[in-house]
Amino acid sequence: MKTVPLAQRIFSQPTAPFCEKFVLAEIKSVLREKRIPFFEDRAGNLIAGVRRAQELRSRIIFMAHMDHPGFRVTTAGRRRPRESQVVQAHWFGGCDLKQLKGARVVIYNPISTAPTTQEIRRGSGKDRPELGRDFEEIRGTISKAARTSLYGGRVVKLTISLRRPAQVNEEAFGGFDFVPFQKVGDQIRTRAADDLAGVVIALGTLMDQRGKAAAIFTRAEEVGFVGCLAALEEGVLKPGMHLVSLEASRVLPQARFGEGPVLRIGDRSSLFDSGLSTQMWQTAERLAKRKRGFTYQRALMDGGSTEATAAKLYGVIASGLAVPLKNYHNIGAKRAAIEIISARDMEGARTFCAHLAKSFRPLDFDDELRIRIQKNYKLLKELL
Ligand SMILES: [Zn+2]
Repeated sequence: MKTVPLAQRIFSQPTAPFCEKFVLAEIKSVLREKRIPFFEDRAGNLIAGVRRAQELRSRIIFMAHMDHPGFRVTTAGRRRPRESQVVQAHWFGGCDLKQLKGARVVIYNPISTAPTTQEIRRGSGKDRPELGRDFEEIRGTISKAARTSLYGGRVVKLTISLRRPAQVNEEAFGGFDFVPFQKVGDQIRTRAADDLAGVVIALGTLMDQRGKAAAIFTRAEEVGFVGCLAALEEGVLKPGMHLVSLEASRVLPQARFGEGPVLRIGDRSSLFDSGLSTQMWQTAERLAKRKRGFTYQRALMDGGSTEATAAKLYGVIASGLAVPLKNYHNIGAKRAAIEIISARDMEGARTFCAHLAKSFRPLDFDDELRIRIQKNYKLLKELL
């Protein structure tokens, strides 16, 4: 499947932290179509390209998160929602408080026959149709936004005024009101490139390198890697495994839009594994020589933190790759703005990841490097 149509399918799914079920369902239907194996862990992360967690040890694992900053409705009725014109919600993930106030938003109101997140995780509710577009869209405006001490201050409390009264149910969630997918020249404009672009790159890589690549699609990254940490705590991801975090990350002077995927040396919180990052660099160099039109960048992208840092702290050998993103987290110059990535950067990222998966060797890179420089020493030490 080509990258742009795949992006259109994935980007059309709404998402927010803890509310990833529509993205999850679409990823699963792509994997089923392509007969790529997958399973879920207890936290609802999706592991693909392998049948068991143990198989992850011999593969390079691409990690992308399924969420994007957004909100969960908190005033919905349980069984029978009451009709109302004002709803309360909790915003999760990065935002500019000033830009939240007065912003236009959409609530995705799952239609009641759809299985709940819990049911999907448990594997029940399978007799009902797979979740696809089983939601209605309800439009409104944020009339109040205030920080709270809830969850250690990680939540913004919202009051949303709806255009017309509606029955909002307990699984409702939402985000800024932008088109899901629009392609203008090389630009892809979307409400949630971070990190649905990573999801698309990982899916494309699984298709291109069957039996070689593995991927983990995680939940609730935007509130501090919660899904990723669950995979680490539960032992799905183990020390010594090799992981590349895939992200759409803020454009920087050293990471320019449209000039190719960026091999990350680190993120805002830490530097990545030197050996794995070097292997990635060598792969990109070879590819740039062999494949016409392939370009890449290599930089420290310290605009945000990534799951690579979390994984590294648990002993996973981790590095990262990103496509430069304009209007990161929908923060615009004055008001909320649509996120923009380059189709060419995303295509380049997929090409790179497929080559990395193909040539990947789980070696000790520092050992290799030591042997190489020791050769120098043996040859030249007599001149000391
Ligand atoms: Zn983000």
